[in-house]
Amino acid sequence: MSRHQYDLIVCLKQPGTSIGKLCERCDGRCPGCDSFVKPEVKARICEECSFGKGGGKCIICGNKGVCEAYYCHECVLLEKDRDGCPKILNIGSNKLDNFFEQKKQKQLTQD
Ligand SMILES: [Zn+2]
Ligand SMILES: [Zn+2]
Ligand SMILES: [Zn+2]
Repeated sequence: MSRHQYDLIVCLKQPGTSIGKLCERCDGRCPGCDSFVKPEVKARICEECSFGKGGGKCIICGNKGVCEAYYCHECVLLEKDRDGCPKILNIGSNKLDNFFEQKKQKQLTQD
């Protein structure tokens, strides 16, 4: 399942040594596929996203980051953790609500 269907632009620059953060709302969510199961590898973000105005912010929605982001088992298998910095760059509040709405619906149909 690709997040590109939501018109999100992902950074994908060469990751540095910093670990991406997630906010309370996104805690436990895989930045590669939004799964909440089997977190496996810490999600590293690029230098640009770890400092400056995005620094310390949730890499999915831009809220205050409170915990570290992990890729899930599946994404590690697919080597999504090597795609590059997983930070979402272009998310606006409208889009974000939409994004979470669609997720909710998707999860409902999956369950
Ligand atoms: Zn994943
Ligand atoms: Zn980045
Ligand atoms: Zn968040």
